Amino acid sequence: MEEQLTAITATIHEVGHAVDTIHDSTTTFSGSPEFNLRRRNGEVVAMKPGSVVSELIDHYFGEDSALSQLLAYPLNSGNKVNAAMGVDELREELFAQAWAFSNLPGGMDFLRDNLPATAAFMETVHEQVKATNYARPQNAQQNAQPGQVPDRTQAAGNVVRASRQAAAPT
Ligand SMILES: [Zn+2]
Repeated sequence: MEEQLTAITATIHEVGHAVDTIHDSTTTFSGSPEFNLRRRNGEVVAMKPGSVVSELIDHYFGEDSALSQLLAYPLNSGNKVNAAMGVDELREELFAQAWAFSNLPGGMDFLRDNLPATAAFMETVHEQVKATNYARPQNAQQNAQPGQVPDRTQAAGNVVRASRQAAAPT
């Protein structure tokens, strides 16, 4: 069960990276001020306003929960992969983990009870995902006609990207 949940979480995490660029490739949820952070003496610290990151970091260091265990990636700076991450990557990985947790059974309720700013942020993300009606966020399919062959180059690129990222979380 534990392993199954880990695999499911890793998959939803990868979906989170796609969700992060739902509007376009430059505007991202992880780029929001709520995710402002930097490194100080190797540790990840929140920068104002940084409300979501602040809650995630406090929870990771202060609580022992399924969420804090999940946040060992990328917050455990004793891990070499985590320690090598730049600021943008840390923001992207933290967003993907928060997204993954918010999709687990009871995850959003846990966030509402314990990390209210994170819950509010993820609720707006879920609303924006729903507003797309789950269509492709980018315009790759916009001009596609019925029966037309999809752009194989783009599809192959997406698969490569997904599999490369799938290997990253530990
Ligand atoms: Zn990731």
